Amino acid sequence: MDKFQQSQKNKLFKNVSHDPYSAPRTEGPAVCPKCEAVYAAGTWSWKRQENTVVHGAQTTICPACRRIEDNRPAGILTLSGGYVHQHRGEIVNLIKHTEEKEKAEHPLERIIKLDDAADDLIVTTTGIHLANRLGHALKGAFKGNSEYHYSDSEYGMSVRWSREE
Ligand SMILES: [Zn+2]
Repeated sequence: MDKFQQSQKNKLFKNVSHDPYSAPRTEGPAVCPKCEAVYAAGTWSWKRQENTVVHGAQTTICPACRRIEDNRPAGILTLSGGYVHQHRGEIVNLIKHTEEKEKAEHPLERIIKLDDAADDLIVTTTGIHLANRLGHALKGAFKGNSEYHYSDSEYGMSVRWSREE
């Protein structure tokens, strides 16, 4: 293997960095006792009428609830700049609204918390897709600048959004 192939191989591995929280702890159907998300056929979904009774379901805490418990976000969104302080209410509304939409379809994509840190507003999420979607929603609604960075070492991404005024 030459150097080029080696670097391609490394890239490949980086792209598939494994999410340590993704694997369920059980085989077969399971229900999360905290949020009632249902695991069946390889995916998590919200409890719906047609699968209210999951035959032989075990209980297992879902990856999102485990991340919340451990405070181990997969996504970190940092908002900075004067605009954030002037329009905090609108921005927080957009963030919450975007989370509602994402979470309705994907139970593992949730906000862990919103924190004020010095001049920044920090939003942590249980999934990388929500962090990504929030970055695009902010840019779409309020313009500004956004940057997306996938972690090399573990499953995760950080998004920075800023607008001065
Ligand atoms: Zn859960």
